[in-house]
Amino acid sequence: MAEEYLLRVEDVDVRYGDFLAVHDINMKFQKGAITAVIGANGAGKSTLLNAVMGTNRPSKGKVFFKDEDITGLRTSLIVRRGITMSPEGSEVFEGMSIRENLLMGAYTPGPRKKRAELMDKVYQLFPVLKEKEKQLASFLSGGQRQMLAIARAIMSDPDLIICDEISLGLAPVVIGDIYEKLHEINEAGMTVVLVDQEVHRSLENSHYSYVMVKGGVVMEGPSGELPEDEVKDAYFGINKYA
Ligand code: ATP
Repeated sequence: MAEEYLLRVEDVDVRYGDFLAVHDINMKFQKGAITAVIGANGAGKSTLLNAVMGTNRPSKGKVFFKDEDITGLRTSLIVRRGITMSPEGSEVFEGMSIRENLLMGAYTPGPRKKRAELMDKVYQLFPVLKEKEKQLASFLSGGQRQMLAIARAIMSDPDLIICDEISLGLAPVVIGDIYEKLHEINEAGMTVVLVDQEVHRSLENSHYSYVMVKGGVVMEGPSGELPEDEVKDAYFGINKYA
């Protein structure tokens, strides 16, 4: 198969003990696109994306990246192949400087060799991180933390970045800034998987969307063509999605 789809999730289930958290997931992530995964709290977005990253193991199904089966690989090996995740909650290493946080992102052998180049790239994208590079991450604002989390993920030199809950707890103007950066990253050639709590924002900022309810996909399509009202019904679990 051509590399049109960089990442494919096929028939995936993930269980926590007896609890089937996500089931029968089929998703394809087009190379060069921004794909949104939309769903309310508990719909299973993080569970699924953690299965892609190797921190959860699918109990059924397969995950393919660049047409290679990566199901069940260790996370560090998955990162080496070119997937990275900016985790929910803008997690950063609080006790480390911004520069040290960024260096932590380039821990695999390939990126380690080109750390200086990658550092220049993220500083160009986020000049505020350069200005504050010697400061402890604990002093950053919420928006700056989110930028650092994304920048650290980019330090692993990925082909695909998963941004989980990218706007959680941030003010609208800051969210606008973060999205602007995300589009810049995408326009520079990186494939993006986007998770956001807000339906309108997810549709507006992506090329294709999947909508998850109670662990399954209930709707998918080009983001500009999906009926926003129906996506919201699914999100809030009302009408035929109750
Ligand atoms: P959120 O937006 O809150 O992160 P989500 O769509 O990412 O929601 P998940 O966190 O993937 O949803 O949760 C899916 C389901 O799996 C929920 O019912 C949740 O309670 C359950 N779950 C998540 N993590 C665990 C775990 N470690 N052990 C058991 N159940 C879990």
